[in-house]
Amino acid sequence: MSSGSALKVVCVLYDDPVTGIPASYARDGIPALSSYPDGQTLPSPSGIDFTPGQLLGSVSGGLGLEPFLTGRGHQYVVTSDKDGPDSVFERELVDADVVISQPFWPAYLTAERIAKASNLRLAITAGIGSDHVDLQAAIDRSITVAEVTWCNSISVAEHAVMQMLALVRDYIPQYGWVVRGGWNIADAVSRSYDIEGMDVGVVAAGRIGLAVLKRMKPFDVNLHYTDRHRLPAEVEAELGLTYHATVESLVSVCDVVSIHCPLHPETEDMFDDELIGRMKRGSYLVNTARGKICNRDAIVRALESGQLAGYAGDVWFPQPAPNDHPWRAMPGHAMTPHTSGTSLSAQARYAAGVREILECWLDGRPIREEYLIVQGGALAGAGAHSYSEGDATGGSEEAARFTAG
Ligand code: NDP
Repeated sequence: MSSGSALKVVCVLYDDPVTGIPASYARDGIPALSSYPDGQTLPSPSGIDFTPGQLLGSVSGGLGLEPFLTGRGHQYVVTSDKDGPDSVFERELVDADVVISQPFWPAYLTAERIAKASNLRLAITAGIGSDHVDLQAAIDRSITVAEVTWCNSISVAEHAVMQMLALVRDYIPQYGWVVRGGWNIADAVSRSYDIEGMDVGVVAAGRIGLAVLKRMKPFDVNLHYTDRHRLPAEVEAELGLTYHATVESLVSVCDVVSIHCPLHPETEDMFDDELIGRMKRGSYLVNTARGKICNRDAIVRALESGQLAGYAGDVWFPQPAPNDHPWRAMPGHAMTPHTSGTSLSAQARYAAGVREILECWLDGRPIREEYLIVQGGALAGAGAHSYSEGDATGGSEEAARFTAG
């Protein structure tokens, strides 16, 4: 949809580093990719006003969009203040035409907020995963929801593999011994195993899940997956995959389970006491998909009882997680804040993808089908394939309890 008039674009990004924007970076650039693994082309805006490899995802970086938007006469508001009724986001939203948000620091677009934003026509996710938007409310109001499919899928797959290994080998406590001073080998290895020979499974074999399976293949593990749609037979054969029609079947045979489905009403609370109870005692669970797919307290109980030997991932609910969120203190975890999909490498791709989506919108050209989640009052594009209608934002107001440490 095009608009000749000046638009107001409100963008919510995470805070700048407490140490300030880096004066220099660890590396001088990022590799140039030719295409994504399935052949999809990388974002192709008419131009970019940033240096790939620099910090773009925090407020000062502004996704590199400022010159482009203001140059075209639009208003561009960037803030990290997103939670609670007195937040900048809540105030600026009222007359916003476009909202840009990130899963890492989600500006929850609940039905209440959407009702207040009468001009809102486009919600862009600078990343992948638009569950922070009440998709049902967006459908009902014919708001277009789009995300940058593929932009950080491999980033997340790499993180998930890292966390599987960190859990099974028990890396984090071993590092702790080094930093504290000591040479406590017996302490350090008393929960450390090899992943070789284990049964490793993914819940959902979409872009990320399949990339995880491919990356785990050389570890000589037995690979399993469940998904709503089965992978082509040749892919199953090449990777030696065992397909499970249900998640219950998958978890009952796996030592390590990694979750890669979107959060939507079908998957919310999937890993509850009942499902975790079907896992082998001492299983490892990695969740880089969305916090709400796992029941918060059931995870804590399972780690405390030993039903789970470890839990890792980088997704929480709400985000930012309050400082008293029990996952910060539970035993046997290797959590990160929501970072897997916002490496400097990923930032360059999602910033360019957001620019591409905006250029299409402003010029009245169609947004790529693969970027669409909701359009014209229905799930569309990638959204029609992977999501179900409804809302998964319930409880997000708790994010206002976070205070920076
Ligand atoms: P894809 O759309 O490529 O894959 C999602 C897969 O999940 C699809 O194969 C889909 O099945 C499957 N699925 C959906 N519902 C179910 C269900 N009920 N049971 C089993 N499988 C299901 O997405 P990506 O792989 O790129 O991303 C997946 C998710 O990862 C995102 O939605 C997001 O939540 C999260 N993510 C996290 C990031 C981070 O920084 N931590 C960054 C990027 C993404 P089918 O299509 O066959 O119906």
